[in-house]
Amino acid sequence: MEIVRHSEDTLRTALVSNKGNLIELYQKFSPGVKRLLEEAFGADTTTLFKPIELHSESDWIRSHSEAKQDFYMFCSSQSRLLPVPGKSTIYIQAIGVFGDLETTTIKYINWLKEYCERFYYGLKVKLLPPVPVSATACTFRVNTYSHNLQIYTAHILKYLKNKKPKDAFCIVGITMIDLYPEDSWNFVFGTASLTEGIGIFSFARYDDNFYTAGYKGKLKKNIHLDPKDYSVFDGYYTPPITSKLLLRSCKTLTHEIGHIFGIKHCQWLQCIMQGSNHLEESDRRPIDLCPICLRKLHYAIHFDIKKRYKALLEWIEQNSNPNVATTAPLDKPMEAFEEWKKWLLLCLQILEE
Ligand SMILES: [Zn+2]
Ligand SMILES: [Zn+2]
Repeated sequence: MEIVRHSEDTLRTALVSNKGNLIELYQKFSPGVKRLLEEAFGADTTTLFKPIELHSESDWIRSHSEAKQDFYMFCSSQSRLLPVPGKSTIYIQAIGVFGDLETTTIKYINWLKEYCERFYYGLKVKLLPPVPVSATACTFRVNTYSHNLQIYTAHILKYLKNKKPKDAFCIVGITMIDLYPEDSWNFVFGTASLTEGIGIFSFARYDDNFYTAGYKGKLKKNIHLDPKDYSVFDGYYTPPITSKLLLRSCKTLTHEIGHIFGIKHCQWLQCIMQGSNHLEESDRRPIDLCPICLRKLHYAIHFDIKKRYKALLEWIEQNSNPNVATTAPLDKPMEAFEEWKKWLLLCLQILEE
């Protein structure tokens, strides 16, 4: 394993910048917030914010040579959307079902909505009523290698674009069905048009059994599909709702929406915005932003940093959603979040010292 360690100077410039107006803006943070952000400078394997670890040749940083986006580059970038009054709502459109009951879908997407609302603290997050795959009129196929159903991303993006409400900052589709972006591609976890504020992301491959022989989403090898007949999706397998699946879904959704805000893959510290090439690498990412990416998001939304951490902690502590009336006996599975609950408490402690 290799550790990517940046000097304190490098991290300070990435966070504070050396431009007068951005330094001035930084000075306006309270002593508590500065204390928290500056935890970045002493990053080691035991602190709140840790240096990036490389575990294998296939890790993201090794295979991509993107420029490292610091706070100044983020502020001066032209290719990003900022929420503005009248265009600041994040819409989530579920496509197909989540879990095996209709009520499970509602519960699951509500957990994700509430999570995003706290992560993007201060912005409204609204759910559009879930639709079946047929509503999108998308092309679909059976993957030649994994033998599971896949839907074509370009058609889903077009559907979402037409549906995007006037007050939307962005609209993101989420689905438990696997995706493909081109006939020649095996699959894709998700794709987005950043300038249009549209994205579609699938959690199908976050099923612990996806890559096993026993994966239940496999169809018969020579099944004949009628392009107009969506009944193949009726009762089609979706991953069981587990705490790990919820954690992975929360992480993917916030990472991807982060890109719509113009935040590029993080190469500074361990961070939810780190790029990932494979599931093990995305599981290694922490749940939240490093100080540099937190400052970028703060610049876009202007939230109260302490209130945001408190709200995230509260979401972990609430084990069911009191706002959703349903009789489904499904409590929010929080085991996988325990580590992050402790982490949030430490952040709050530093903010309050
Ligand atoms: Zn990404
Ligand atoms: Zn970061």
